[in-house]
Formats: sequence, C-alpha cells, structure tokens
Amino acid sequence: MRLDVVTIFPEYLDPLNVSLVGKARARGQLLVHVHDLRSWTHDRHNTVDDTPYGGGPGMVMKTDPWGDALDSVLADGYETGAHGPALIVPTPSGRPFTQEVAVELSERPWLIFTPARYEGIDRRVVDEYATRMPVYEVSIGDYVLAGGEAAVLVVTEAVARLLPGVLGNAESHRDDSFAPGAMANLLEGPVYTKPPRWREREIPDVLLSGHHGKIARWRRDEALRRTTANRPDLIERCDPKAFDKKDREM
Ligand code: SAM
Repeated sequence: MRLDVVTIFPEYLDPLNVSLVGKARARGQLLVHVHDLRSWTHDRHNTVDDTPYGGGPGMVMKTDPWGDALDSVLADGYETGAHGPALIVPTPSGRPFTQEVAVELSERPWLIFTPARYEGIDRRVVDEYATRMPVYEVSIGDYVLAGGEAAVLVVTEAVARLLPGVLGNAESHRDDSFAPGAMANLLEGPVYTKPPRWREREIPDVLLSGHHGKIARWRRDEALRRTTANRPDLIERCDPKAFDKKDREM
C-alpha cells in the first residue's frame, strides 16, 4: 500500500518511522511519502491560508497550494505505477472513523491524506478531487484538534495493522474490540499474563482450567459486562442469536 501525506508540519508525521508502521515500511509493505504543502507556494511568505469569505474568525487554507500539491502527488504516484487513489480528508465534520472504515481503507492500494490546519481547506478542493477518486471525510472523534496530523497517525496505524503480514500473528486482530463475527459490537474484556499472583491479586481460575469452551464463554461474558458499562450504545447493536449459536458450539 502507498500512503501520501500533504501537511504544513511534515515533522509531525515522524512517528510513522517507528513501531508497527515503521517496521511495515522497512519491510516494504507500506510506502510512505510525506510532503510539505509549502513547497507548492510561490510567495515570499509561503502563504497557505487566507481570510474566510463571508467573514468570521480564523483562516481558511487556500485552493492553489492544495490543488498543485495533489496534482503533483498524483502525477508522481501514477508515474511509479501506483493506482486506485483515495483521498482521506480528516475533519471533525466527517463520518466517524470506525474499525469498519479501517477495514475498507485497508483494501485500497493508495491513500492520500490532507490533514488541515486553521478552519480547514477551501471546500472546492475536496469537490474537485471527488470527481476523480473516492473521498473519505473522516472524524476520529467528537472533539476538535488543532490539525489533522494526529488523525492521520490514528488512521494509518489502524489501517496498517490490518494489512496482510504486518502483525506478527495474523490472528491477533480476530478477537479485538469491534472485530467482525459473533463478538461484533462487543469490546474486548480484560487480559492477563504471568505471574498468576501479583500483589495478592490472582487471575480468574477459569483461565487456568484449560477448558476452551469455558474460557471462551468467560471472555464473552466479560466482553458483555465491559460493553454494557462503557458503551451501552454498542449493546443495542449486538445480535443475541449469534451468541446462542456460539454457545452451542462451546
Ligand atoms: N472549524 C473546523 C470545524 O469546526 O469543523 C475545525 C478545524 S480544526 C481547528 C483544523 C483541522 O484539524 C481540521 O480541518 C482537520 O484536518 C483536523 N481535525 C480537527 N479535529 C478533528 C477530528 N476530530 N477528526 C479529524 N480531524 C480533525
């Protein structure tokens, strides 16, 4: 998969060199290009923003630097054989970025991110590129950040760990919170490792029982407990019939 990020703070994307994403890059599973939007400005001050039409506080990012940057990124990508670009526009007014969207993005070959600053990008930029490629306007939560770079890091990590061969154990994300299947819409319950006793605290006996059915049932019950406490909205979307079917298999 190829990723391009256009930003006025390229150094903000340095974490893409470490951990899971960094290793995926080193192995050639991810090709990441970070571009400085100001390279596509032509004035002495490298201006990327201007006052909003209609008045109001704050500044809006200008069409020209974004248009020139995206044209150039697309031309470069196509030249090197990339195909199937999608534009990822982080914005608090986008659709919620969920595991489902992460799965959808992980199936695309080329993602181009446009993290903004100020009050966002002149709308005509998104409208223009929406005629050429799918556009995903995504919000990483119901709060407002100062810029979209942190959202790019979030989306990239969620997507990268779904790519084939990126996680050491391909099964790792099967039981995650939000993973599809019988446990869809349930948060993962608590997890434990050695030693079995720490500061008078023991791990639940069932985890030492070796009985896979009982362990699976315990995990399901804990997931239900945690989801009910933390995300009652998700419980509404659970399918009790799927649980019954799973119980019969245990
Ligand atoms: N005026 C905009 C609004 O209320 O929708 C907020 C602009 S915000 C200060 C600047 C940029 O940060 C946004 O254009 C977007 O790129 C990014 N951003 C802020 N909050 C975000 C969120 N929850 N999810 C994704 N991106 C976000």
